[in-house]
Amino acid sequence: MEIVRKVTDLKNRIRRWKKNGYIIGFVPTMGALHDGHLSLIRQARRETDKVVISIFVNPIQFGPKEDLTKYPRPFQQDIKLCRSVGADLIFYPSVKRMYPDDFKTCIDMDDLPNVLCGRSRQGHFRGVMTVVTKLFNLVEPDIAYFGQKDYQQVLIIKQMVKDMDMNLIIKIMPTVREKDGLAMSSRNKYLTPVLRNKATCLSQALLKAKQQIKEGEHSSKRIISEMKGIIRYVKEARIDYIGIVNRHNLQGIKQVKTGETLIALAVFIDKIRLIDNTLI
Ligand code: AMP
Repeated sequence: MEIVRKVTDLKNRIRRWKKNGYIIGFVPTMGALHDGHLSLIRQARRETDKVVISIFVNPIQFGPKEDLTKYPRPFQQDIKLCRSVGADLIFYPSVKRMYPDDFKTCIDMDDLPNVLCGRSRQGHFRGVMTVVTKLFNLVEPDIAYFGQKDYQQVLIIKQMVKDMDMNLIIKIMPTVREKDGLAMSSRNKYLTPVLRNKATCLSQALLKAKQQIKEGEHSSKRIISEMKGIIRYVKEARIDYIGIVNRHNLQGIKQVKTGETLIALAVFIDKIRLIDNTLI
């Protein structure tokens, strides 16, 4: 497995692979890898000839009050994990190379970035779209893999790829969870053991919603009210949002429609903002 920091080295390697006709799979990450990331890498390993992982904590997707400087960066451990699942190359560019002082261009989109997580994280998806575009241009993948855990993110990326005629396929992989249901996230590392246990309120609220729907409840208002009840039971929890939306356009819906609905939520557990979602 190669570990590459310089864009010229990356480009040389990619050019040689392309010349040999290899299919390139790509998994963009911010590092602090866990089984969720590894499931994407494993899928890329199964489906493509050469697997590239990027590790880059993208400063422009963090708000001024967010955890950019604190974000975990266990690089040596990440290298081991990537090796263990058979990755071919880790690309870890410097911030200066990605955003030199004269950097001026950003990618933006109407509608999809302005709801759910976009409401409380102004500019977040603009930062995500910009870095993902740059990474796609550098790595030139045939297939890129994203997790359903960040559903809004992957929906936005799919839309961007379509709108901008980008020449690759986007694949979505299911959310990988801890045994007790908590969606794996690099941010779970911030939680104390007590708060870590309480963080299961997100997945429990989603389970409750699914159960209600199974029993015939379709009113978004009533489902959200039950979900709120479960989360408010945890005194350190503060709801950022709970959304029951159309899975294609992320607009709120009054009635749950099977096959069309996304239930998504963001909750602060103490100061740590966690997200989760489920498709109905
Ligand atoms: P991040 O490093 O948080 O930017 O995530 C990199 C990629 O891993 C994104 O496509 C995420 O959606 C995906 N990912 C993060 N957590 C999980 C998880 N628990 N299950 C599946 N994919 C995940």
